[in-house]
Amino acid sequence: MSTAIRVTIWNEYRHEREMPEVAKIYPMGIHGTIAQALDDQGLTVRTATLDEPQHGLNDEVLANTDVLIWWGHAAHNEVSDEIVTKVQQRVLAGMGLIVLHSGHFSKIFKRLMGTDCDLKWRESNDKERLWVVAPGHPITEGIGDYIELEREEMYGEPFGIPTPDTLVFVSWFTGGEVFRSGACYTRGQGKIFYFRPGHETLPTYHNAEVQKVIANAVRWAAPTATRELIRGNTRSLEK
Ligand code: ZN
Repeated sequence: MSTAIRVTIWNEYRHEREMPEVAKIYPMGIHGTIAQALDDQGLTVRTATLDEPQHGLNDEVLANTDVLIWWGHAAHNEVSDEIVTKVQQRVLAGMGLIVLHSGHFSKIFKRLMGTDCDLKWRESNDKERLWVVAPGHPITEGIGDYIELEREEMYGEPFGIPTPDTLVFVSWFTGGEVFRSGACYTRGQGKIFYFRPGHETLPTYHNAEVQKVIANAVRWAAPTATRELIRGNTRSLEK
């Protein structure tokens, strides 16, 4: 018997409320647009935002989340360390985590990576071509050789992440830079996917292929064989 994967989409949700040009592209918020896309794919979706109590991530929500999606940008330091620790613990216990775009600088991503997660950037409407470098990987299902986004913010190497377990996409930008734009990790029993595109002033999350990748990543990151671990002082199994 299979049950629907329970996804929580977390969004900082400040730009959409403060910048009319962002609100125009995402009238329901970035989280609302992604929620609709994942709902259409048959996933069970809820959303949570920074300015809700406990950022919308209380214990009950976290306990009932199989995969958490994270979009943040301007207010990373307003996310409480206590919630970050709870999210980290859930990931180590098997919850999937998908970190989008400027979430590379979120507390939770930096905590789980253990590196600075810094990069080069430029807002100049570069074209981005995300090359699939792991054909056959579940996250690339239904995607051809590449995804092309007519306009995106540029992120460039060197990206301060640990070497990924699997690198799924490498981006090329018209400015000449390249970037590891789709990266898989495991931490404890949890699976993590970083996915680069999604600048707030551009309609990237309305793109069907971007939506497809996020839905694929949710299915890939959903917990499968997680269990309570036996730890600490232990008796010999043999006499
Ligand atoms: Zn951006």
